[in-house]
Amino acid sequence: MNQFRFSRRPDIGDKVRVSFEFFPPKTDEMEARLWDTVTRLEPLKPKFVSVTYGAGGSTRERTARTVKRILNETTLTPAAHMTCVDAARDQVDAVVREFADMGVTRFVALRGDPAAGVGTAYRPHPDGYANGAELVGALKGAGDFDISVSAYPEKHPESPDFATDFDMLKRKADNGAMRAITQFFFDNDLYERYVERARRAGIYIPIVPGILPVHNFTQVANFSARCGALVPAWLAERFDGLQNDPQTHALVASAVAAEQVLDLVERGVSDFHFYTMNRADLVFAICHMIGIRSHEAEAAGSAAA
Ligand code: FAD
Repeated sequence: MNQFRFSRRPDIGDKVRVSFEFFPPKTDEMEARLWDTVTRLEPLKPKFVSVTYGAGGSTRERTARTVKRILNETTLTPAAHMTCVDAARDQVDAVVREFADMGVTRFVALRGDPAAGVGTAYRPHPDGYANGAELVGALKGAGDFDISVSAYPEKHPESPDFATDFDMLKRKADNGAMRAITQFFFDNDLYERYVERARRAGIYIPIVPGILPVHNFTQVANFSARCGALVPAWLAERFDGLQNDPQTHALVASAVAAEQVLDLVERGVSDFHFYTMNRADLVFAICHMIGIRSHEAEAAGSAAA
């Protein structure tokens, strides 16, 4: 039974570290939701929180505004995502300088999706950085930044094979990336196999699992099809029939994500990156289960005991 295998050991929270990913809000309403989320998750003291960057720099200003607000109004350490899409090198370098001047010390360096949409061929800007590895090299040359990059346990959809993917990941690590964060996945065996293969390919940076709590199964299934992540039949089965039952959907999502994370902890994983989708509840609950708690919650618990 899972509750015995996964029962919380008191020391787990001390060993596990988390980071959270947000996207820049488009509307006032989304902005309010993001800040509720940030406020709720801040006491969990994540290692960093990252803010995504839209295709072709489409969210440049909103990403910068969000990162700036995190720097000014919270105790959190932001990491700015950067992509190479549709931008010359000097444009990308200028954005990096803008972030650095703001006080940003962490970046998530990405090539980005093709400007014409996922599934079309990627054409680098003629004067631009061609891929994630080149961008990492440029960031490393621009300052003493902490740089994260992407990794794909199920292979990047554009890659002809895993060897090409590992070649790119190794180039990113050799150019100075300090960790890779994975695309989300639901099958922990795939992740474990991927990490073993990366080590055999001479890649030694931490490969942090990216965890996506399933807020909306239909959306996740559609998105997974586009980014090459497998939705196992057992997962579809668990959410079957819950499209119009948000409460049960949320309970199932929490159980699914907790099971995945606790199993990874059992396998020795100590760092997790959560794709929050700018929502706090599921992530907060999962963190609670792995022993990551706000001091306020711990204090309330001891007072009650
Ligand atoms: P790279 O690491 O440069 O390449 C990925 C793989 O694609 C390589 O392994 C390589 O084998 C293959 N490849 C690269 N170029 C080519 C080519 N020309 N032809 C054939 N194969 C090629 N997207 C955003 O727009 N904004 C974000 O903020 C963002 N954040 C992300 C965060 C994480 C943790 C992850 C995992 C992904 C994120 N993405 C984001 C999505 C990402 O931009 C896409 O997956 C994109 O298609 C690849 O970018 P990359 O940096 O992984 O590419």
